[in-house]
This record gives sequence, C-alpha cells and structure tokens, in this order.
Amino acid sequence: NAVFPRPLNTTVIAVSNQKGGVGKTTTAVNLAAGLAAGGLQVLVIDVDPQGNASTALGIEHVSGVPSTYDVLVGEEALEDIIVRSPEHQGLFVCPATIDLAGAEVELAGRVGREYLLANAVEDHIRNGRQFDIILIDCPPSLGLLTVNAFVAADQVLIPVQTEYYALEGLSLLVQTVERIRESLNPRLSVASLLLTMVDGRTRLSAEVAHEVREHFPQQVFDTEIPRSVRISEAPSYGQTVIAYDPRGTGTVAYREAALELAKRLGDEK
Ligand code: ADP
Ligand code: MG
Repeated sequence: NAVFPRPLNTTVIAVSNQKGGVGKTTTAVNLAAGLAAGGLQVLVIDVDPQGNASTALGIEHVSGVPSTYDVLVGEEALEDIIVRSPEHQGLFVCPATIDLAGAEVELAGRVGREYLLANAVEDHIRNGRQFDIILIDCPPSLGLLTVNAFVAADQVLIPVQTEYYALEGLSLLVQTVERIRESLNPRLSVASLLLTMVDGRTRLSAEVAHEVREHFPQQVFDTEIPRSVRISEAPSYGQTVIAYDPRGTGTVAYREAALELAKRLGDEK
C-alpha cells in the first residue's frame, strides 16, 4: 500500500460549488477514502443538511444524532461528534442531519456566526487531535453554512461537471471566495478544480474540459473523473466507490486524484 505524502499541517479543504448535482459529495467522500487508503488521517465534515456524504460513508444521520448541527448551533467539540468510518481505516466523519436545515435561521442573529466551524476545527487541532486533511462537503448554496466552511478552510476545491453550463456560475463562486478572503479568512484560495462525470464518448464533454483547463490552467487536476454507473450506485449501499468497486474505473480515478491532491499539499511544505 503506497503511502502518500503527508502535509506538514492539517489542511482544510472546502469542496464547494453552488450548483447541485455536480459531484461535490461524491468527490468529498471518495477523495477522503482515497487519501485514507494512501495512509493519511482524514476527516469529512458534512455541512449539507441533506447528509448525502454521511449516507455515502455509511453513517447514521437521522434527526437528533450528534452532528454538525451540534458543532455549529450548540458549539460542541468536534471530538464529541466525530465517528469512525465503518469501512475505511483512518477516515472519520462529522455527520449532518436534517436539523442543519434550520441552522442558518437559528444562527442569523448570533455574533461570530461565520466563525463557528473555524473555531471548532481550530480547537480540535489545538487539542492535538491531528488530521492530515479535513474535507468539508458544502451544500449547493453560498449561504451561512458555506461561509462557515470557507472561513474554516485553507483552500477551496471545486468539482466541475463537464456539461454545457459548467463555467456559468464559476465566476460568482470565485468572487465569493475572494470576498471571504478579503473580509473573513486571508488564507483562503481556490486551489483546485476537479473535472467530474467526464464522458469520453461525447465531444461536448471534451470541449468543456478543455475550456475549464484554459480558464484555470494551474488549478485543474490532471486526473479527470469519468462518468461511471458504479460511482452513482455506491451510495445506495452506504459505501464509497473505493469500497464498492475496488478495481473499477471510478476507484482508479479517485485514488489517482487523491494522490495528486496529496502531492500538491506535500509540495507546499
Ligand atoms: P452534489 O454533491 O454536487 O450535489 P453528487 O456528488 O451528489 O453532487 O452527485 C450528483 C449525482 O451524480 C449523484 O446521484 C451521484 O451519484 C452522481 N454522480 C456523481 N459523480 C458521478 C460520476 N462520476 N459518474 C456517474 N454518476 C455520478
Ligand atoms: Mg452534495
């Protein structure tokens, strides 16, 4: 089992795109599993009230179970909420429940509401609980939950579905990241884009991939994630594709993308 390069400090990555259905959750959970398979200690924080990342990682997340809601609204410590992945050694999860759907309203008047997740992550690191990489699965919006993710993060990873409207909305997302950098979190940058659901048989998919690479030459991962039925089936078994279909094209691609990410973070040392 190859051991991936380890970042010097815990690196927090918000997986974000305000569009739904572009592969955020799929990317967060499968990159996390790939990084854990590479020997790194990884935490996935589910910040989407839908809790799809929690489902895909086989973690119970019915209303009321300890979750990201308690971290944000109850200001509870991450270590009291985090659970182990039943499948992947080195992978931990802070699950989300539907309770989180009310959090934006509940927190609307609270002082420091943008810093709640950042504070929890910093406390966790300061208490010596080390993760190499923390991946935050963001909801499909740029509201307070995503702002919390951006304030907690060192960098943003944007999954881009290779379809006609791919670039639409990316400028708003990039502007939002800039605004957060200027006002709330000077560390933040859009460090990477990952092309997802790439369909090798269509010219459109190739054209969009080319266009995104032209716009973001430094940021786009060399690895592309192909469209794969196995990738879409895995969550219904509460599994990552890496557990569900260990030799499939989806697994190969996500493990490759995970290695690419680890190498980039290693190079930052
Ligand atoms: P988001 O979190 O951005 O809303 P998801 O990761 O949930 O997006 O993906 C949206 C849908 O597309 C899901 O049904 C998922 O299983 C499917 N999907 C994601 N990536 C792929 C892929 N590479 N090939 C096929 N289906 C995919
Ligand atoms: Mg999602």
